[in-house]
Amino acid sequence: MNTSALATQLSEQFGLSTEGLKLNPIGNGHINTTMLLRNKAQALVVQKLNTDVFPEPEQLVNNARLIEQHLTHKAASDQYQLEIIKHVPTQSGDYLIDIQGEKWRALEFIRGSYSEEVVQNAAQAEIAANAFGQFAAALQDFDAEQLYPVIPNFHNLSMRIATFKHKIAADVVGRVAACQNEIAFCFDQFSLADELDNLTNVPLRPCHNDTKINNMLFCKNTESAKAVIDLDTCMPGYWLCDFGDMVRTCCSPEAEDSTALEQVKVRHDIFHALVKGYAKPLTPFITEQELLSFWLGAKVLPFMIGLRFLTDYLDGDNYFAIKHPEHNLQRARNQFALYRDIVRHEQTLKGMLEQL
Ligand code: ATP
Ligand code: MG
Ligand code: MG
Repeated sequence: MNTSALATQLSEQFGLSTEGLKLNPIGNGHINTTMLLRNKAQALVVQKLNTDVFPEPEQLVNNARLIEQHLTHKAASDQYQLEIIKHVPTQSGDYLIDIQGEKWRALEFIRGSYSEEVVQNAAQAEIAANAFGQFAAALQDFDAEQLYPVIPNFHNLSMRIATFKHKIAADVVGRVAACQNEIAFCFDQFSLADELDNLTNVPLRPCHNDTKINNMLFCKNTESAKAVIDLDTCMPGYWLCDFGDMVRTCCSPEAEDSTALEQVKVRHDIFHALVKGYAKPLTPFITEQELLSFWLGAKVLPFMIGLRFLTDYLDGDNYFAIKHPEHNLQRARNQFALYRDIVRHEQTLKGMLEQL
């Protein structure tokens, strides 16, 4: 279907007049197809959900709407100050529509906002982490068991390791022999999974599970946070994982597929800003033990995502989109380099958590 026919269908379903109608890509998401549908008077974000990644899109929308409702209550009593991503119903009251077998939804467009792809400085990292902290704090009394596991075992390292071993044994594309160094390195880190499995006194929380910088919106005028977005993977989890994913995606000055491994390092000022920004809104709820568990998250997330890149490489690149044949291997090496640098600076980085 061409863009203008699609725009017309979407506008009819979501009740926009077709006068001056435009449909253009927005943002830089990797999973869904996100577009801005606008006419002279109105603008809506429309999103085609990726049903390979999310085979049950109805459950995803239901999860996000439960969170939206909870945050709306919090905002009404001044306990949540950020803007809330709200779903827009169709003329007949549905939140998900089918266009030629593909699933689309609409969200209110947050005006006057922009998203960043790379953290530019510590101040920006603190603003982003603080927004994710406000989001986590507002959800701490939300019953996470209400959320459907849209991707079961998403941050379950033991399960990721089991899949890794399975793919090594299968060696479907014959890449195992050339990856012996990386594989051996991974095997040496598996005790991380035991640490995660044996956590005590760290509660399961409603988590965002995709806390990278482009999943929050900054305000165009004030450089402050505007909204936490992309609630697709909100599920029960540990705050340490949300913290760890911020460390993974914010701390290195290099992109996650950079091959300049000697430059892949944890920027200490950014790490400190993340600790400060994220922990502040959680102070009334978090225990010392839970805060100290963030150190485990800072190690686990870079390692686990690296392991998943390597697993996908050994499996013939079925999950992550690649731009060239070695892409997943390069990403894995990059994440392992970051993980190594984090471990190397344990004393300094852990000290930042302990000092809080
Ligand atoms: P990811 O790769 O992080 O999983 P995704 O494919 O799930 O991303 P989103 O993060 O939901 O997609 O949206 C992609 C981008 O579109 C965002 O980073 C943001 O720039 C923009 N965007 C999404 N929703 C809105 C909104 N309601 N208002 C303004 N901009 C938005
Ligand atoms: Mg996103
Ligand atoms: Mg997403």
